[in-house]
Amino acid sequence: MSPKPINDKSQNYGFETRMIHAGAQPEPITGARQTPIHQNTSYVFHDADHAASLFNLQTFGFIYSRLTNPTVAVLEERIANLEDGRGATCCASGHAAQILTFFAIMEPGDSFIASNRLYGGSITQFGKTFKKFDWQATFVDVDDPENVRNALTPNCKAIFVESLANPGGVVSDLESLSEIARDAGVPLIVDNTMATPYLCRPFEWGADLVVHSTTKFLSGNGTSVGGCVVDSGRFNWAQNDKFTGLAAPEPAYHGLNFYESFGDMAFTTHAHAVGLRDLGSTMAPMNAFHTLLGCETLALRMERHCENARKVAEFLESHPNVAWVSSAALPSSPYYELARKYMPKGAGAVFTFGVKGGYDVGIKVVDNCEIFSHLANIGDAKSLILHPASTTHRQLTEEQRIAAGAGPDVIRLSVGLETIDDITADLDQALRAASN
Ligand SMILES: *Cc1c(COP(=O)(O)O)cnc(C)c1O
Repeated sequence: MSPKPINDKSQNYGFETRMIHAGAQPEPITGARQTPIHQNTSYVFHDADHAASLFNLQTFGFIYSRLTNPTVAVLEERIANLEDGRGATCCASGHAAQILTFFAIMEPGDSFIASNRLYGGSITQFGKTFKKFDWQATFVDVDDPENVRNALTPNCKAIFVESLANPGGVVSDLESLSEIARDAGVPLIVDNTMATPYLCRPFEWGADLVVHSTTKFLSGNGTSVGGCVVDSGRFNWAQNDKFTGLAAPEPAYHGLNFYESFGDMAFTTHAHAVGLRDLGSTMAPMNAFHTLLGCETLALRMERHCENARKVAEFLESHPNVAWVSSAALPSSPYYELARKYMPKGAGAVFTFGVKGGYDVGIKVVDNCEIFSHLANIGDAKSLILHPASTTHRQLTEEQRIAAGAGPDVIRLSVGLETIDDITADLDQALRAASN
């Protein structure tokens, strides 16, 4: 007898049960318990009518893996379930998820408001590459949510923030921001990569869409680049005339109106049937498989990540060679109270600190670490270290770098799951060697 699928929200399963089971069932033909890797491009139609109804979006099913794939579909259901969303669309990377999201809601000439303290790659993507689509990003300091209200314009189509910003331990006031978005009739989009659905639940605070780089904590082992956009299913795309892609006739599907036809699945259907169809930024089945394995241990890993990171932050705060520590886990952080409200189980594993001596000492600390790996990723089981000013945030101006919390003395840590005393000892020896 095969277990029943654990997708039904009315069953009220806990987070840990859903992180292991949601979206998956034993494979019906072989009984294989783990989700198979459907390394496969296309799917046989039953007959010509079946093919026609699939292409008309009248029947759900698999056509071609650029649009949907059975392994990727399990991951989509898993992440949608963990976020308490209606549907999810996985794609090739976190940046692909961001393009896919804006592609559904923006037209040339439109603008959106974004926090000026985003991951450096997102600031570059929004500020530079999006201009080629004639999409304008207006960056504001969202610490005062009124700055967002003041920046609203008639062609503003969205507000975009990170729940917990990469890298500086900045927490966004999601509840206030969602009120402003609601008043403006635009979706609040939250990048929940650093917090994960285990620590922060943006939809409970009024967010409409959540994006992830699944590359990070969701996969958790530094194996697979991937992204995802999750829809709460609660945004009314027809409340104004801003969202013609979702709530006006789509010529490529014989005048289909996604919102009329699919309601709370409009965004997710559009993201597959138009977004992935035409942008082509599909997630590979192998990457979906690795990310599913990561999801199975998400809660356990995040607990230990948070505990280790808090201990490292406390250790650094009292270290003689450290000028400051910016972690929302510390009572000294201006974001401590917001973190307790929005991520009560812990403030994540990524934070920054400043070394005394600036740029040159910062680079030496990174070079002297033995357990910490010097690389441009976060969310691995391994502890990771980076000097943002000379790497990820290099393409920004000095002003943007400082706004993003990536000035010359800044070091970013992604604290891993190694023995805590080994982690702190490694930083201690590196700091002492670099400061001599
Ligand atoms: C890494 C990251 C991204 C980009 O994701 P990729 O998978 O590298 O494309 C976006 N947002 C945040 C917060 C990130 O950490």
